[in-house]
Amino acid sequence: MIRPYVLAETNWESLKDEQFELAVLPWGATEAHNYHLPYGTDNYQAQSFVEAAAKVSWGKGKKVIVLPTIPFGVNTGQKDIYLDMNLNPSTQLAILKDIVTVLNRQGIYKLLLFNGHGGNNFKPIVRELGLLFPDMFISFSFFPQMLNKTQYFKEKGDHADEMETSLMLYLRPDLVLPKDKWGSGDEKKFKIKAFNEGWLWAERQWSKVSSDTGIGNPEFATADKGERFFNDITTKLDELFCALCEADLKDLYE
Ligand SMILES: [Zn+2]
Repeated sequence: MIRPYVLAETNWESLKDEQFELAVLPWGATEAHNYHLPYGTDNYQAQSFVEAAAKVSWGKGKKVIVLPTIPFGVNTGQKDIYLDMNLNPSTQLAILKDIVTVLNRQGIYKLLLFNGHGGNNFKPIVRELGLLFPDMFISFSFFPQMLNKTQYFKEKGDHADEMETSLMLYLRPDLVLPKDKWGSGDEKKFKIKAFNEGWLWAERQWSKVSSDTGIGNPEFATADKGERFFNDITTKLDELFCALCEADLKDLYE
Protein backbone atom coordinates (compact mmCIF):
# COMPACT_ATOMS: atom_id res chain seq x y z
CA MET A 1 0.00 0.00 0.00
CA ILE A 2 1.44 3.36 -1.07
CA ARG A 3 1.28 5.76 1.85
CA PRO A 4 0.33 9.22 0.49
CA TYR A 5 1.89 10.95 3.52
CA VAL A 6 5.36 9.40 2.95
CA LEU A 7 7.22 11.36 0.27
CA ALA A 8 9.56 8.51 -0.67
CA GLU A 9 6.54 6.30 -1.49
CA THR A 10 4.07 8.67 -3.08
CA ASN A 11 4.10 9.93 -6.67
CA TRP A 12 3.59 12.91 -8.94
CA GLU A 13 0.06 11.70 -9.76
CA SER A 14 -0.89 12.25 -6.10
CA LEU A 15 1.29 15.29 -5.52
CA LYS A 16 0.62 17.48 -8.55
CA ASP A 17 -2.52 19.01 -7.03
CA GLU A 18 -1.60 18.50 -3.35
CA GLN A 19 -0.91 21.19 -0.79
CA PHE A 20 0.66 20.08 2.48
CA GLU A 21 0.51 22.04 5.70
CA LEU A 22 3.35 20.39 7.64
CA ALA A 23 6.59 18.67 6.62
CA VAL A 24 8.23 16.31 9.11
CA LEU A 25 11.90 15.41 8.77
CA PRO A 26 13.20 12.46 10.82
CA TRP A 27 16.90 12.83 11.59
CA GLY A 28 18.95 9.99 13.04
CA ALA A 29 22.55 8.77 13.08
CA THR A 30 24.64 5.80 12.02
CA GLU A 31 26.64 4.58 14.99
CA ALA A 32 27.44 1.62 17.23
CA HIS A 33 24.66 0.81 19.74
CA ASN A 34 26.26 -1.52 22.31
CA TYR A 35 27.18 -4.89 20.78
CA HIS A 36 23.65 -5.94 19.96
CA LEU A 37 21.67 -3.18 18.20
CA PRO A 38 22.07 -2.12 14.55
CA TYR A 39 24.04 0.97 13.55
CA GLY A 40 20.82 2.37 12.08
CA THR A 41 18.89 2.14 15.38
CA ASP A 42 18.22 5.88 15.66
CA ASN A 43 16.95 5.99 12.06
CA TYR A 44 14.61 3.02 12.46
CA GLN A 45 13.18 4.53 15.61
CA ALA A 46 12.71 8.11 14.42
CA GLN A 47 11.23 7.06 11.09
CA SER A 48 8.86 4.49 12.63
CA PHE A 49 7.46 6.99 15.14
CA VAL A 50 6.90 9.66 12.52
CA GLU A 51 5.32 7.34 9.96
CA ALA A 52 2.99 5.76 12.51
CA ALA A 53 1.87 9.15 13.83
CA ALA A 54 1.46 10.62 10.33
CA LYS A 55 -0.81 7.70 9.43
CA VAL A 56 -3.17 8.67 12.25
CA SER A 57 -3.03 12.40 11.47
CA TRP A 58 -3.60 11.74 7.75
CA GLY A 59 -6.64 9.66 8.66
CA LYS A 60 -8.02 12.75 10.42
CA GLY A 61 -7.57 14.78 7.22
CA LYS A 62 -4.38 16.53 8.30
CA LYS A 63 -2.02 17.45 5.49
CA VAL A 64 1.28 16.13 6.79
CA ILE A 65 4.14 14.83 4.66
CA VAL A 66 7.05 12.76 6.00
CA LEU A 67 10.36 13.54 4.27
CA PRO A 68 13.03 10.83 3.88
CA THR A 69 15.11 10.28 7.03
CA ILE A 70 18.56 11.85 7.20
CA PRO A 71 20.64 8.84 8.28
CA PHE A 72 23.82 10.56 9.56
CA GLY A 73 24.12 12.65 12.71
CA VAL A 74 26.69 14.49 14.79
CA ASN A 75 29.14 11.88 16.10
CA THR A 76 32.18 14.05 16.82
CA GLY A 77 32.76 12.27 20.15
CA GLN A 78 32.92 8.82 18.54
CA LYS A 79 35.65 9.42 15.99
CA ASP A 80 37.64 6.37 17.12
CA ILE A 81 34.65 4.00 16.97
CA TYR A 82 34.72 2.02 13.74
CA LEU A 83 32.34 3.35 11.07
CA ASP A 84 30.47 5.72 13.36
CA MET A 85 29.58 8.30 10.73
CA ASN A 86 29.80 12.01 11.50
CA LEU A 87 28.02 15.01 10.03
CA ASN A 88 29.34 18.22 11.49
CA PRO A 89 26.77 20.70 12.85
CA SER A 90 27.77 23.15 10.08
CA THR A 91 26.94 20.45 7.50
CA GLN A 92 23.56 19.94 9.15
CA LEU A 93 22.92 23.65 8.79
CA ALA A 94 23.85 23.48 5.08
CA ILE A 95 21.54 20.51 4.48
CA LEU A 96 18.67 22.14 6.33
CA LYS A 97 19.17 25.43 4.51
CA ASP A 98 18.64 23.64 1.19
CA ILE A 99 15.62 21.67 2.42
CA VAL A 100 14.01 24.75 3.96
CA THR A 101 14.64 26.69 0.74
CA VAL A 102 12.51 24.14 -1.13
CA LEU A 103 9.70 24.15 1.43
CA ASN A 104 9.68 27.93 1.69
CA ARG A 105 9.56 28.37 -2.09
CA GLN A 106 6.70 25.89 -2.39
CA GLY A 107 4.61 27.32 0.41
CA ILE A 108 5.00 24.65 3.10
CA TYR A 109 5.80 26.94 5.98
CA LYS A 110 5.77 24.47 8.86
CA LEU A 111 8.68 22.08 9.39
CA LEU A 112 9.12 19.72 12.32
CA LEU A 113 12.54 18.13 12.80
CA PHE A 114 12.06 14.83 14.59
CA ASN A 115 15.33 13.92 16.19
CA GLY A 116 16.38 10.38 17.05
CA HIS A 117 19.98 11.00 18.17
CA GLY A 118 21.27 12.76 21.27
CA GLY A 119 24.32 14.22 19.50
CA ASN A 120 22.13 16.29 17.15
CA ASN A 121 21.45 19.73 18.57
CA PHE A 122 19.12 21.71 16.38
CA LYS A 123 18.58 24.74 18.59
CA PRO A 124 21.36 27.00 17.24
CA ILE A 125 20.58 25.83 13.70
CA VAL A 126 16.87 26.61 14.02
CA ARG A 127 17.70 30.05 15.41
CA GLU A 128 19.93 30.80 12.41
CA LEU A 129 17.42 29.45 9.87
CA GLY A 130 14.74 31.58 11.48
CA LEU A 131 16.62 34.74 10.52
CA LEU A 132 17.11 33.54 6.95
CA PHE A 133 13.51 32.32 6.44
CA PRO A 134 11.16 34.60 8.38
CA ASP A 135 8.02 32.97 6.91
CA MET A 136 9.01 29.48 8.08
CA PHE A 137 8.01 28.00 11.43
CA ILE A 138 10.62 25.39 12.32
CA SER A 139 10.42 23.31 15.48
CA PHE A 140 12.21 20.22 16.69
CA SER A 141 11.61 17.41 19.12
CA PHE A 142 13.84 14.72 20.63
CA PHE A 143 11.69 11.69 21.35
CA PRO A 144 13.14 10.34 24.64
CA GLN A 145 12.04 13.60 26.25
CA MET A 146 8.41 13.18 25.17
CA LEU A 147 7.46 10.82 28.00
CA ASN A 148 8.67 10.00 31.49
CA LYS A 149 10.91 7.02 30.71
CA THR A 150 10.86 5.83 34.32
CA GLN A 151 7.18 4.89 33.90
CA TYR A 152 8.17 2.42 31.19
CA PHE A 153 11.67 1.25 31.97
CA LYS A 154 13.49 0.06 35.07
CA GLU A 155 17.02 1.19 34.22
CA LYS A 156 18.18 4.67 33.34
CA GLY A 157 20.32 5.18 30.27
CA ASP A 158 20.75 7.21 27.16
CA HIS A 159 22.31 5.05 24.50
CA ALA A 160 21.46 1.48 23.47
CA ASP A 161 19.77 1.27 26.86
CA GLU A 162 16.64 -0.56 28.05
CA MET A 163 14.46 1.88 26.10
CA GLU A 164 16.28 1.57 22.78
CA THR A 165 16.65 -2.20 23.11
CA SER A 166 12.94 -2.55 23.93
CA LEU A 167 11.99 -0.39 20.95
CA MET A 168 14.15 -2.39 18.57
CA LEU A 169 12.86 -5.70 20.00
CA TYR A 170 9.40 -4.42 19.07
CA LEU A 171 10.20 -2.72 15.74
CA ARG A 172 12.96 -4.89 14.24
CA PRO A 173 13.60 -8.01 16.36
CA ASP A 174 15.33 -9.53 13.32
CA LEU A 175 18.16 -6.99 13.77
CA VAL A 176 18.76 -7.50 17.52
CA LEU A 177 21.46 -9.96 18.60
CA PRO A 178 20.56 -12.58 21.26
CA LYS A 179 20.67 -11.54 24.89
CA ASP A 180 23.96 -13.25 25.68
CA LYS A 181 25.64 -10.68 23.42
CA TRP A 182 24.22 -7.63 25.24
CA GLY A 183 26.86 -5.52 27.02
CA SER A 184 26.15 -4.02 30.42
CA GLY A 185 26.22 -0.41 29.17
CA ASP A 186 28.28 0.67 32.19
CA GLU A 187 29.16 4.34 32.08
CA LYS A 188 32.11 6.26 33.49
CA LYS A 189 31.44 9.79 34.77
CA PHE A 190 33.66 12.86 34.72
CA LYS A 191 35.82 13.25 37.85
CA ILE A 192 35.01 16.98 37.96
CA LYS A 193 31.79 17.17 39.97
CA ALA A 194 30.20 20.09 38.12
CA PHE A 195 29.68 17.95 35.01
CA ASN A 196 27.52 15.53 36.93
CA GLU A 197 25.51 18.32 38.56
CA GLY A 198 24.33 19.31 35.11
CA TRP A 199 25.70 22.86 34.89
CA LEU A 200 28.91 22.16 33.03
CA TRP A 201 29.22 20.43 29.69
CA ALA A 202 32.05 19.08 27.58
CA GLU A 203 31.92 16.42 24.95
CA ARG A 204 32.60 12.96 26.30
CA GLN A 205 35.09 10.78 24.47
CA TRP A 206 32.71 7.90 24.03
CA SER A 207 35.34 5.15 23.93
CA LYS A 208 36.62 6.33 27.33
CA VAL A 209 33.23 6.35 29.08
CA SER A 210 31.81 3.07 27.76
CA SER A 211 33.59 -0.15 26.83
CA ASP A 212 30.70 -1.64 24.81
CA THR A 213 29.54 1.72 23.30
CA GLY A 214 26.28 1.50 25.29
CA ILE A 215 25.24 3.82 28.11
CA GLY A 216 22.52 2.24 30.20
CA ASN A 217 21.83 -1.39 31.11
CA PRO A 218 19.63 -3.11 28.49
CA GLU A 219 19.08 -6.23 30.63
CA PHE A 220 15.37 -5.72 31.36
CA ALA A 221 14.36 -4.76 27.82
CA THR A 222 11.34 -6.51 26.30
CA ALA A 223 9.32 -6.12 23.11
CA ASP A 224 6.18 -5.47 25.23
CA LYS A 225 7.81 -2.47 26.92
CA GLY A 226 8.90 -1.24 23.51
CA GLU A 227 5.39 -1.56 22.10
CA ARG A 228 3.81 0.35 24.99
CA PHE A 229 6.36 3.16 24.75
CA PHE A 230 6.07 3.25 20.95
CA ASN A 231 2.28 3.51 21.02
CA ASP A 232 2.27 6.27 23.65
CA ILE A 233 4.89 8.29 21.73
CA THR A 234 2.89 7.84 18.53
CA THR A 235 -0.31 9.07 20.19
CA LYS A 236 1.45 12.16 21.50
CA LEU A 237 3.15 12.80 18.19
CA ASP A 238 -0.15 12.61 16.29
CA GLU A 239 -1.55 15.24 18.69
CA LEU A 240 1.48 17.43 17.92
CA PHE A 241 1.11 16.98 14.16
CA CYS A 242 -2.56 17.98 14.38
CA ALA A 243 -1.77 21.01 16.57
CA LEU A 244 0.96 22.14 14.16
CA CYS A 245 -1.32 21.67 11.14
CA GLU A 246 -4.08 23.70 12.80
CA ALA A 247 -1.77 26.43 14.15
CA ASP A 248 -2.21 29.93 12.76
CA LEU A 249 1.36 31.18 12.33
CA LYS A 250 0.16 34.75 12.84
CA ASP A 251 -1.49 33.86 16.15
CA LEU A 252 0.76 31.46 18.03
CA TYR A 253 0.65 32.90 21.55
CA GLU A 254 -1.88 33.30 24.35
ZN1 LIG B 1 20.30 5.56 19.64
